[in-house]
Amino acid sequence: MVSPVMSSLLSIHTYGDPVLRESSRPVDAITPDILALIEDMFATMKANQGVGLAAQQVGRTESVCVIELPESYDREEETGPRLNPDVPLRLSLVNPRIVEASDDTCSLEEGCLSFPGITGSVERSWSVTIEHLGLDGQPRTTTLQGFFARAAQHEMDHLAGDLFIDRFSHVKKLAVRGKLKRLQQETREHLAAG
Ligand SMILES: [Zn+2]
Repeated sequence: MVSPVMSSLLSIHTYGDPVLRESSRPVDAITPDILALIEDMFATMKANQGVGLAAQQVGRTESVCVIELPESYDREEETGPRLNPDVPLRLSLVNPRIVEASDDTCSLEEGCLSFPGITGSVERSWSVTIEHLGLDGQPRTTTLQGFFARAAQHEMDHLAGDLFIDRFSHVKKLAVRGKLKRLQQETREHLAAG
């Protein structure tokens, strides 16, 4: 019998909150606190129908991000094999670092839980190799392809204080300028109201 894992929902920090521009600091060890943070991040991500979440998005600055993909997202074709059959669809990355990125890139529309209502096309490497800590505290190397690689790159941008809007084309940046301004204003009002 597996005991239920207790998790609580965290609030999502949206664009305009300065924490989104902070760089994360490496985690020294996989402590119960870090494990709890990871569980809470998975729960929060699912509750908000997201597929990835980084610490900054819940107001934290530990170098931790989580990804959970529906299996269909890890297939190139609907009935084809998984692109990353050896990688669990529920993946947490602690202290991740990209050690290799393919020159092959692709562009795809992305969204972000910190940017409700805003999507845009982002070009990213098709494949990345990441060094990170496993939840057992041991170093791991994980290679990802396709959408999984994209999700990891998006979340790891967050850990560096970078955002997907930074990677929009010039034209797209102009197109979303008004929406971004409004979101930033709403976030600031929300923060000021405490
Ligand atoms: Zn995001």
